[in-house]
Amino acid sequence: MNKPVLSIVVPCYNEEEVLAETNNRLTIIIDDMLADDLISPKSSIIYVNDGSRDSTWQIIENLNTNERFVSGINLAKNVGHQYALMAGLMYAKDVSDITISIDADLQDDTQVIKAMVLEYLEGNDIVYGVRKSRKSDTFFKRNTALGFYKLMSSMGVNSVYNHADYRLMSHRALEQLSLFGESNLFLRCIVPLIGYKTSSVYYDRKERFAGESKYPFSKMFSFALDGITSFSVRPLRFICLVGVIFLFFTIIACIYSLISYLKGNAVPGWTSLFLSLWLIGSLMLISLGIIGEYIGKIYIEVKGRPRYNIERVLERES
Ligand code: UDP
Ligand code: MG
Repeated sequence: MNKPVLSIVVPCYNEEEVLAETNNRLTIIIDDMLADDLISPKSSIIYVNDGSRDSTWQIIENLNTNERFVSGINLAKNVGHQYALMAGLMYAKDVSDITISIDADLQDDTQVIKAMVLEYLEGNDIVYGVRKSRKSDTFFKRNTALGFYKLMSSMGVNSVYNHADYRLMSHRALEQLSLFGESNLFLRCIVPLIGYKTSSVYYDRKERFAGESKYPFSKMFSFALDGITSFSVRPLRFICLVGVIFLFFTIIACIYSLISYLKGNAVPGWTSLFLSLWLIGSLMLISLGIIGEYIGKIYIEVKGRPRYNIERVLERES
């Protein structure tokens, strides 16, 4: 049987300080797997330069000429981690049987790459790299990450806890991923929608090897907002719910104002004003909610996501 061709996709944005070391480590891993005869000698490491302003691309060019497994993709401008990763994955899809995505900063343990490949050979199409703990993170990052995850799942968005973008995907899983036409990419939530047999490998996440995080709080916040608004219509439904709650209060307000009116406590004109205020408010919210339902439908339609994914077909034996 032919050994599978492995591509390791590494998005890089201003990573000049770490690239050489990253490449050393990944080369060792590939050599190790070649020695064990697990993967094809055509396997490669694909660096995607995401419009870096430092010498990242020159380093990739050098690695490409001087090292054995390196290929590179240079994006015309900075498009952000998710798009850079997608560019790499879509390129890798056509040249490999299995693809592993990993950050350039060596925070994710390269040692489990082999475990991922073994899981693939066991028949898994998607293997998640999951962090055992977040000890190396700051208190702030740890808790915002947890809050983010909880918020997402309360919005009905599936994702794997403590898993970022360190994962293995088979050729056919990438084929299916390529059918997701949405431009708001949020890979870690799209991948679980693909289906197929999946498994996880666990590792300890380390500090960044060098350089600094490209995800300051502002970016994390917009990442979270993006994640929710590109996966969930619940915020729209929420408007309708608030409208219904307001309508309930309107009924209470109705009773209260009528009693005040009958007792003679009400200034003339107050009852009608007070009641119409509540009634119009709640009707407006409910109307907005109904419009929201339709917008939610449009939103799902325009995404044009694949409606199903066939895992296997058993043809009639002749
Ligand atoms: N990255 C990228 N484009 C960007 C920002 C980041 O390709 O605009 C890459 C970066 O080089 C790294 C990965 O995405 O390989 C994750 O970024 P980082 O390590 O800064 O994020 P953190 O681990 O702090 O969440
Ligand atoms: Mg990092």
